[in-house]
Amino acid sequence: MIANLFCPKCGTIMLPEGKKLKCSGCSYSPRSKPENIILKEKVEVSKEQEIEIRDQKVETLPKIKEDCPKCGNKFAYYWTLQTRASDESETRFFECVKCKNRWRLY
Ligand SMILES: [Zn+2]
Ligand SMILES: [Zn+2]
Repeated sequence: MIANLFCPKCGTIMLPEGKKLKCSGCSYSPRSKPENIILKEKVEVSKEQEIEIRDQKVETLPKIKEDCPKCGNKFAYYWTLQTRASDESETRFFECVKCKNRWRLY
């Protein structure tokens, strides 16, 4: 249910257009809408959750001696990913334990 609002500029009733309200007289449209704020909050929460899950996974990965090309740190987390064809060599991924830089080797 959308409450009818009147335009602050010309006083004409504003009608919903898509997700926004728009004045039927002068085409004024308010910038901030409650729906947009709720949507933004949801996105931020899901991003944080993704980071948490990712960090947990990284912490369980084995550490190996590998030079970071970015900061020169000597240790990196290490994991592999198989390409679609099983006979092809797997791709090796590294994440620097110090600066979190990621790189790969084929
Ligand atoms: Zn107006
Ligand atoms: Zn590094």
